[in-house]
Amino acid sequence: MSHSKEIVVSKPRVPILAIAILAAIFAVGLFVVGYDQGHLFSIVQGAEAFDELFIHELTHDMRHAAGFPCH
Ligand SMILES: [Zn+2]
Repeated sequence: MSHSKEIVVSKPRVPILAIAILAAIFAVGLFVVGYDQGHLFSIVQGAEAFDELFIHELTHDMRHAAGFPCH
């Protein structure tokens, strides 16, 4: 009678897809917080968005706290 033992060694692997999705979210977040001057809203709102600067005003304090210059 033979006994066989199965030892499962699981190595934690981070899925590449998860990294890609998180990197995309990071990139969009970085753009929104740090660089947007009406670009995103101009897609639907047109040139008016560059005067309104809604996202810029919304993230203004965060932008300064994060060290992005804006004025
Ligand atoms: Zn500012």
